[in-house]
Amino acid sequence: MKISAVETILSDTYPNGIWVRLETDEGLVGVGETFRNPKATEAYIHETLAPYLLGQDPCQPELHRTAFNRLLGNRFQGFPTRSIELRGNSAIDIALWDLMAKSLDAPLYKVLGGPAHQTLPVYNTCASDGYNLAAKVIGDSRAAGEGEDDLALQVSDPGRLARSLLDDGITGMKIWPYDRFAAKHDGWHIDRADLEEATDVIAQIRDAVGDEIEIMLEYHGLWRLPAALDIAEALGQYRVYWHEDPIDLSNIADLRRYRDETGGRVAASENLGTTRWLRDALVAGAVDVVQFDMGWVGGISEGKRIQALAEAFDRPIAPHDCVGPILFAADCHLAFASPNTLTQEIVRAYLSGWYSDVASGLPEVKSGQLQLPKGPGHGADFAPGFLDGGGIKRKKSCM
Ligand SMILES: [Mg+2]
Repeated sequence: MKISAVETILSDTYPNGIWVRLETDEGLVGVGETFRNPKATEAYIHETLAPYLLGQDPCQPELHRTAFNRLLGNRFQGFPTRSIELRGNSAIDIALWDLMAKSLDAPLYKVLGGPAHQTLPVYNTCASDGYNLAAKVIGDSRAAGEGEDDLALQVSDPGRLARSLLDDGITGMKIWPYDRFAAKHDGWHIDRADLEEATDVIAQIRDAVGDEIEIMLEYHGLWRLPAALDIAEALGQYRVYWHEDPIDLSNIADLRRYRDETGGRVAASENLGTTRWLRDALVAGAVDVVQFDMGWVGGISEGKRIQALAEAFDRPIAPHDCVGPILFAADCHLAFASPNTLTQEIVRAYLSGWYSDVASGLPEVKSGQLQLPKGPGHGADFAPGFLDGGGIKRKKSCM
């Protein structure tokens, strides 16, 4: 089997996403995805990756991973997470693994050695359906508080939000009540009134549902250590399940200090969660729950390395999902193939919203439990009509 075409797909409706289709001379098609700066990523894929990929056997993703890194002039990762090149490599890598599993007529989790679980718990990231559709500044106060969706309820009625998640059988919720105050002093300081207002969100959740729900606090790396410690001190009386990216993740020594001084569980990182960053962070004892986004770190090939690295350090993984449906499907297959999966992130507003507009065949969540995904491959494909709909831009490199 040989790769006969490399196609990229952009959408005016979903302007942060980019999808790839790898066609083969045997008629099988592999699907991948990444997120942010799609036009630059599209250019990189056609300029640099397609000339290498055309004519290659797709069923050797490890060989191609090495080649991609050489194309970047570096025998390792080339560039840090979120670079255009790494995102392009990630989308292609996921499509290669999809093709390999399809060529074996098997679900991807089986090719990866699973299933290690029959169901998995999920937690919900309390975003709205439109949360990640446009370029925006994380922590922008306009992103929360207006309307009736999960994002707005984080601020306007967090107790009701918690009850509604429990009604869906979901017992973990991720919220970011401190973000909207971070820009005010560029993360150096949080005013006492703002600290109390944000912390009151956690108080309202505990008043409404007691300890029935686990609270994951997300900080998006917006705080410097002194302010992050002030926040942790204010939270002292409330039980928080994990603290995610509480400071700038490039400062591993400060992350370790945060963990030691607060006694909290640190989850990291969608921001810098490459294999090599996690190696250093785990050696430093700075991370308790290992997070990574396969669309940003190099795809399945890197995700399985990170999973094994975490297991060697006796730490669980919690794959990141907040960016797109194909990545969500890929996450679920790796999660089911990995014995050290703690929980899988979902965004219920996406699953019932834009994810299902773009893709079909996605893994299902029933009563707060992720169901074993279907194959072959990662099982996800474009929703009927999506590729023929308005605002779609397709570009193809062929043999
Ligand atoms: Mg995060």
